[in-house]
Amino acid sequence: MTPSIAHNIASVRAQIQAACQAAGRAPDSVQLLAVSKTWGADAVRQAHAAGQTAFGENYIQEAVDKIAALHDLPLQWHCIGPIQSNKTRLVAEHFDWVHSVDRLKIAQRLSEQRPAHLPPLQVCIQVNVDGGETKSGVSPQDLPVLAQSVAALPRLQLRGLMTIPDPTETPAQMRAVHARARALFEALRLQGLPLDTLSMGMSADMDAAIAEGSTMVRVGTAIFGQR
Ligand SMILES: *Cc1c(COP(=O)(O)O)cnc(C)c1O
Repeated sequence: MTPSIAHNIASVRAQIQAACQAAGRAPDSVQLLAVSKTWGADAVRQAHAAGQTAFGENYIQEAVDKIAALHDLPLQWHCIGPIQSNKTRLVAEHFDWVHSVDRLKIAQRLSEQRPAHLPPLQVCIQVNVDGGETKSGVSPQDLPVLAQSVAALPRLQLRGLMTIPDPTETPAQMRAVHARARALFEALRLQGLPLDTLSMGMSADMDAAIAEGSTMVRVGTAIFGQR
């Protein structure tokens, strides 16, 4: 029998609680973002029936169709995938959060295009901690200037950082990436930016990310199954 989405969500929540306890952190200090990319509206409805309200999507057009199909539910939508300039308007109009801002031009467009009747778009800057040249994310060196510029944009609210360790890394290397992201996050806070969100940890590296201070884990496979 395949475990149901509701069962998987309960297991993931239990795993988050156990990881918080092991790290001496409050059990409600880590939010669960359910990554529903490639899954249909029905799967999202099942997750919502199990109490899940925040969902992450990578592919903008797929997400916009899903958001429309689920308009009757009070869901929060997070864009976690790469954003090209020609997609910023769709993101600004349909999402509540964006985790994948890594250049000023994209942030400026999102701010300009955020409709006046919606609250500011909640933003994390994606940082490329382990330095893969082809990967998305701003370099740690360029992060402070980008963060200050993004924080100054009127229709965005900068909440924190997002990072994705390279999937080929060992658990120890991934944990080092999480620790580095945490240090960059704390350094920005010391510079006066009121950040509260560290988006890190996926199905495979959730425990290590929580041990290093993650406040939001982005979990797809462990909830919905293999894509
Ligand atoms: C797909 C994806 C996830 C979820 O990954 P799983 O391994 O399925 O949990 C999390 N974050 C980002 C940015 C993703 O693209």
